This record gives sequence, C-alpha cells and structure tokens, in this order.
Amino acid sequence: MSEGREYYEILGVAKGASQEEIKKAYRKLAIKYHPDKNPGDKSAEEKFKELSQAYEVLSDPQKRAQYDQFGHDAFTRAGRGGGGGGRYGGFEFHDPFDIFREVFGNGGGGTGSIFEELFSGGRARHSSNGATDGSDLRFDLSIDFEESVFGTEKKIRIPRMESCPDCNGSGCAKGSGMKTCPSCGGRGQTSISQGFFSLRQTCGVCGGSGQIVEKSCPTCSGRGLVRKEKTLKIHIPPGVDTGSRLRIAGEGEGGLRGGSAGDLYVIIHVHPHEIFKRDGQDIICELPIDFSTAALGGVVEVPTVTGKTKLRIPDGTQNGSVLRLKAKGMPSLKGGQRGDQYVKIFIEVPTRLNSRQKELLRQFADASKDAGSHPMIDSFIEKAKKFFSFGESRS
Ligand SMILES: [Zn+2]
Ligand SMILES: [Zn+2]
Repeated sequence: MSEGREYYEILGVAKGASQEEIKKAYRKLAIKYHPDKNPGDKSAEEKFKELSQAYEVLSDPQKRAQYDQFGHDAFTRAGRGGGGGGRYGGFEFHDPFDIFREVFGNGGGGTGSIFEELFSGGRARHSSNGATDGSDLRFDLSIDFEESVFGTEKKIRIPRMESCPDCNGSGCAKGSGMKTCPSCGGRGQTSISQGFFSLRQTCGVCGGSGQIVEKSCPTCSGRGLVRKEKTLKIHIPPGVDTGSRLRIAGEGEGGLRGGSAGDLYVIIHVHPHEIFKRDGQDIICELPIDFSTAALGGVVEVPTVTGKTKLRIPDGTQNGSVLRLKAKGMPSLKGGQRGDQYVKIFIEVPTRLNSRQKELLRQFADASKDAGSHPMIDSFIEKAKKFFSFGESRS
C-alpha cells in the first residue's frame, strides 16, 4: 500500500504543486493504471489504488496540510496502516473508482451532467448511444384562494439547464466528434475484480456509451447543457388545492445527445383565506349572526366564492349549527360536481348596550321566566338539582 511512499512521489508532483497540477497528474496516471486498461495486472491495480489515496489526501487542502505536517502518521495514528480494505486508522479512504469518476466527471472530461445525475442518485436515463434525457424539475408556486377557485394564468421564471444551442447538446466543439472512452476502452462497462469475482458496471466516464467528447464545445465546456432562465406561462385550472401537481411536459432540463427534455412539475400552494376554509371540495365559512335573528329566524346575506347569496336562518337556531348551501363550494378539477358551502353559525352576544337595549332585555328576561323558551337551561337545572339532592342525602 501507499505507506512509506510519498504521496507527492506517487503522483510525480513537487511538494508545492498547485491543486490543478495535482489533478492533472492524477488524471494522467489514473487512466494509465486503470484496471480496465490493464486486465489481470495486479501491480497496476495496486498503483491505481495508491494513486487514488494520494489524490484523495492531496486534493483536500485540510488533509494535505495534515499530511505535510505529520506525513503518513496523520492517517495511520490508530496503528496497523495498510491493513484491511481502504481503512487507514481513523481515516476512511474512498473507493478508488468513485474518486476516478468524480475527477473525470467534474473536469473537462466532457460529460459533467451525467455524473451529477449519477452522484445525486437521480434517475439518469441513458440509452446505448449516449443520449440522456433531462431531469424533471419542481417549481413551487403560491397562489391566492380566489385564484384557486377561478383558475388563473401565471408567468413563472425557471432557471434550468438547456441543451447547448451551439452543439445541440452533444458537447462537441464544431468540427470535432466523439472518441473512444479511455476508461472503458469503448466497451461502456468497467469491471472491478474482487477475489474470484469480477463485477461489471456501467462506465462512469462515458455513461455506458463507450464514447466521450473529443474536443469540448467552448460554449458549454463539453457538458452539452447551458444554464438559462426561461419564462413560462402556466395555466392554473379552477379547483386546484395546496399540493396539486401540474405536469408540464418537456419543460424540465434539457437532454444530452438527442435525449429528450425532462418535465416540469408545478406544485401549488394556496394562501389561506380570511373567511373561507377548504375541506376537500367543500368550503366552510363561519358566519356571525345576532341573537335575535337566531331566536326569531330571518334571512341573512352570506358570501360564497361565486358571490353573495341569501340564507334563511330558521327560528331557534343554536350556536354552532351548520347550514348547507348546495353547489356553492369548489369547482371540481376533474370536471365533476361542484362542492357545497357549509355555513357554521356563530351567535354574537351583544356588548356595549345602551340603556334602552338594557331595559328591553330586562323586560325580555322577566317575560322569559317559566315560559319554557330555554329548554337547555331548564334541563340543566333539573339535572343539577338531582345532583345536589344526592349530595345532601350523603352528608
Ligand atoms: Zn455546447
Ligand atoms: Zn467509458
């Protein structure tokens, strides 16, 4: 293993080498010693591992500073360096193949976005000719309650990666083409030998196509994609709710080498309304009425999403009663029936009474004695009486 051999020596760079020089040296040597280029050659495989460890330490300014100060001891403090796997004391080295892919993915190697997709765990959609479909995008859009009722049009600006107009997403400079991938030798697959087994996996450098860009397009640096901000007009249908998802086909990120663009998903968030609350297709509205209307009954005006309407309050309506206005709720997204509006009655007890009101209420109270007009109160008093007489008989 690399214990003993200087990391700088392994990469063939001077101690004061810049990050760029270190990367360059690693790229050159990693291609040379990649196991796919040297099938069955154990010493090449060892060198490949050594390279990745040296690169991993020297490419990280913090680890490099530690290494410069303490040498290998910085990574072998826990003893037994070079023992099992890639573990060195307290420091865990990464898979040499991961490092290889990372370096070739982010540099001018050509196929940057394919790597980003591979590493972010997103669904990369490749086909054998190297065409890669663009990723789907998500856009969160807030709208007002009224807009959710009637539908609306919104202009949104989405930053996204689009197919490069100069190379049509190929990543190749004008007049140049593709060349055989140096990592997999054009096979599109790499193999890792582990004991008796040889694991095959899609080549991370070319994404399985076996080809990489010969000369990078200057506009997109060979990525095949360029960052653009696009303004889109979005039609929001009536009836959307928070969490509704609108799919706009082909407005996601651009594809590579003839791959199709991803889709755009617009996720709706509806601002809460001051008087209307939504419950599925129905709308709930709390309506305050005065107690005389509640007692005598009457007709009140009620707001609905489609305008004002008249609601008949039956006499003797209690606080918390719920009245229904048919088909005054939310329109259906799927073209079905409109929901209803439920009006929840809230009886307001009058405050700041003038003397005339007070006098009339006193007269009302007198007239109410033994009139049987308050059955809930009467029934409660009966129950309470039973309770107290029970308590008295106990004491
Ligand atoms: Zn380009
Ligand atoms: Zn390849």
